[in-house]
Amino acid sequence: MIIDAHVHLPVCNGNHSLRRQKERLLYEMRENRVSHCIVISDSSMESIIGTMDECVELFAETDNVDVVGGISPFFEFQTQLLKLKVYLNKKQIVGIKLFTGHEAFYLTDETLKDVYELAIHYNVPVLFHSGWDNNQYSDVMLVSEVAKQYPELKLICCHCFYPQIEKCLLLEEFPNVYFDISSIADDATILADMEAKIKKLIEKVPERILFGSDYSGCSQKEHIQFVKKLEFKEGIEKRVFERNAVKVYSLNM
Ligand SMILES: [Zn+2]
Repeated sequence: MIIDAHVHLPVCNGNHSLRRQKERLLYEMRENRVSHCIVISDSSMESIIGTMDECVELFAETDNVDVVGGISPFFEFQTQLLKLKVYLNKKQIVGIKLFTGHEAFYLTDETLKDVYELAIHYNVPVLFHSGWDNNQYSDVMLVSEVAKQYPELKLICCHCFYPQIEKCLLLEEFPNVYFDISSIADDATILADMEAKIKKLIEKVPERILFGSDYSGCSQKEHIQFVKKLEFKEGIEKRVFERNAVKVYSLNM
């Protein structure tokens, strides 16, 4: 079974129709034999990939899709925090996403204390954007600081500090830090380097790596091929494709 733990609503020919975007996503999952996925909403009040409210409503009756809600210190933070609480209570979302780097705030921002405490209370992970541009907002030192301060908090480092995957190993001592490999297979010219680095990481902490693609910004198919090509024993591959996500997100399956 394959669980894609990091996707977004696709953008269909610039046409912003939530229903159609949902259909497109479900079609892509069928094509790639992905049984379950986690859709990450945007943190803003209006978005082409769907706001938290839109994503929750859109997938309320869809058993094989769960939702992670985005939040930002910059957009109606208190209102969104209350909403998160309501959705968490009703089990309509399975995690919280911070867009550190896309947005100019640090993982150690004082405002986020409420987010971390909420996530601990409901036993859901906090995901954060890492790597790419502006990576100072969620760099290794900040991650270790938060991981140390909140040992009960599950943190998911999205993109594994791409392309500096080796940085993940600096967090080996923190069992509460997980990694999703979304967007790693994005650039064919550095794929061999990515393979070597991810292989090493999976060997070190196989229980903490989650499969994700960052569809539709990246290709779901190519990310699946990327993991299969690593040729891990079935048990390890099953952890990455399925078991780790079930555990971290407490998925009902
Ligand atoms: Zn993403």
